[in-house]
Order: sequence, then structure tokens, then C-alpha cells
Amino acid sequence: MEQYHDLILALQQAAHEIEVRENECMAQHTTFAIGGPADVFISPKTQEGLRYTIACLRERELPYLMLGNGSNMLVADAGVRSAVVCTTGLDEVHIDGDKVIAEAGALLSRVARCAQHAGLTGAEFAGGIPGSLGGAVFMNAGAYDGQMQAIVQQTEYLDAAGELHLLEGEAHRFDYRSSIFREQPDWIVLRSELKLQAGDPTEILSKMNDFAQRRRTKQPLNFPSAGSTFKRPQGHFAGQMIEECGLKGFAVGAAQVSEKHAGFLINRGGATCDDMLRLIETVQQRVHEKFGVELECEVRIIR
Ligand SMILES: Cc1cc2nc3c(=O)[nH]c(=O)nc-3n(C[C@H](O)[C@H](O)[C@H](O)COP(=O)(O)OP(=O)(O)OC[C@H]3O[C@@H](n4cnc5c(N)ncnc54)[C@H](O)[C@@H]3O)c2cc1C
Repeated sequence: MEQYHDLILALQQAAHEIEVRENECMAQHTTFAIGGPADVFISPKTQEGLRYTIACLRERELPYLMLGNGSNMLVADAGVRSAVVCTTGLDEVHIDGDKVIAEAGALLSRVARCAQHAGLTGAEFAGGIPGSLGGAVFMNAGAYDGQMQAIVQQTEYLDAAGELHLLEGEAHRFDYRSSIFREQPDWIVLRSELKLQAGDPTEILSKMNDFAQRRRTKQPLNFPSAGSTFKRPQGHFAGQMIEECGLKGFAVGAAQVSEKHAGFLINRGGATCDDMLRLIETVQQRVHEKFGVELECEVRIIR
């Protein structure tokens, strides 16, 4: 922890509002509810605070991990031997005509709700995805035939040197559950501008309610998970293949293939990262044996 003392002092003494905690349990910050302590957990509340945090980390050559809402991460039981910079304190959302401008830490549920209130259609798909704007741009999150690619017009980001840049349209290099931010792990999403269209608020709300109802019916939302654990393999559905392997309900420790939706691996309560990793490996092995298909993890594994 010695190497962090000077950093912690600098962040605490800064004029910006920045929360800093040592040995923060990552299970509290991931929807899997799994993960040991992070050496230092930093939560800036302003853009200036975030930029200052990153400048302090880079100056001291300290490694860090960006965290949004932790809904696509599986963190090791031993925790994270670096700083974790969480964006959820940066959650402003503005409407400007047919555009929504959202900060990195704004939850997609809030972005979708603000758009609905403003009578803007196009973000309904995002309402039930439990991620932040930054995590969703990084992942090109999507559901029900919608994805971030279709609505993200511009993104302001910091590059590896801490310089501010603007990315527009195709330069995001969106692909299935991927974007340029996956290729450039040192880049940090600060905010994005989403281009939507005028629509009827009642119709938008009814579409969002329909998507939410479909999620409640099909997904095990009452257990901690990271959503679909695996990417959809071309020409197949991961959940269907896992089910056809007879793995619904199969468990390693407290990590289990959901009985409700085999594409979701859930934490039944007290699962360790090791349990979950062994379950993931078993599922991958069995699907490969039966179908010759490699299931690729959608969830980011931090170990
Ligand atoms: C119940 C449930 C349902 C889900 N349904 C869906 C779904 O329908 N569709 C879908 O696509 N996903 C779904 N997910 C997965 C997840 O919500 C999305 O992938 C989401 O976009 C992740 O956002 P996050 O803020 O939680 O990212 P995190 O898990 O915090 O981070 C994910 C990655 O993004 C990086 N990152 C985060 N913020 C930034 C930033 N500001 N700058 C640079 N990098 C950053 C992180 O370093 C990490 O590599 C679901 C998850 C759950 C638990």
C-alpha cells in the first residue's frame, strides 16, 4: 500500500470532490456480488475530479481499472492489485433538442427515462441494461434489436496521455459487444452524445414497459449475475446450446447455470470467483464437446 500513500494524500487534498477508500470490497461494486478488495477505490464526482485522478495516477505510473456499474465484470477473490476508478458519481444527463448528452457514469436506465420524458425515441432498448453509459459504449451494449452503435453520435474521451479528444460516428468502430475502447484499454469515456428522434412519450413508455416485462419473464433478475455470460456464437444461441447439454441448474459451489435462462450464470449466494470460473470452464467444455462451438466470455474477467 506504500505506493498509494502519496496518491491518496494528493486526491484527498484536491479541490475536486473525490472519494478515496482503501481495501474496498469489489463484491459491493459488481452485479455478480463477487470479488475481493481493490487496493484503492476512487470515485470522482466531477469531470475535473476524474481528469485530476487520472493525471495523478499517470504521473505516479500507477495501474488502474475503469469501473462503471460493474455489471459486466467478474473480479478475482484475491481482489484487484491496482487502483479502481469508478465513474458512477459522474451521472449528469442533458437533453438538447433531439440529442441526449450523458456522462460516463449515468446509468442507461436513467438515460432511457430522460429520453422518454423528453419525447425522444431510440433508447428504449437500453432501459433494462444495468450498465453505465461508459460501460455501454465500451461494450456496444444492446438488446431487442437496438444497440449503442445506432444512437451514439459523439464521444468525448481521454487518451493514454490524458489528452482530451472527440470521437465521431464510425470512428467508434462499434462491432458486436465491442468498440474502439476495447482495443484501446487506456482510453476513458467521459461523455457521449446520443442522437434520437422525436416520438410519442406514451408509446415510448409502453415499449420500455414491454421490454422490462420480457426481461422479468425470461431472466433470473432475482439473483446476482452479469447478464449473458457468453457472447452469441455465430448461427447459434449460447443459452439454447447450454440447455441442450443438460446444464440448466448445474452448479459449482454457489455458482449455477440459471434454471430460468441457461445463458445466465448466477451467484446463488456466496459464490466465489473460483466457483464461477470453474463453472464457466465446464460449460465451455461441454458445449465444445457436443457442438464443436467455442463459447467466448462476454463478461470481463479481472484477475
Ligand atoms: C441482469 C443483467 C442484464 C444484462 N442485459 C444486458 C443486455 O441486454 N445487453 C447487453 O449488452 N448487456 C447486458 N448486460 C451486461 C452489462 O449490463 C453491459 O455490458 C453494460 O454495458 C456494462 O456496463 P457497466 O457500466 O456495468 O460496465 P462495467 O462492468 O463497469 O465495465 C465493463 C467494461 O467497460 C470498461 N469501462 C467502464 N466504464 C468505462 C469508461 N468510462 N471508459 C472506458 N472504459 C470503461 C471497464 O473497464 C470494463 O472493461 C446485463 C447485465 C446484467 C447484470
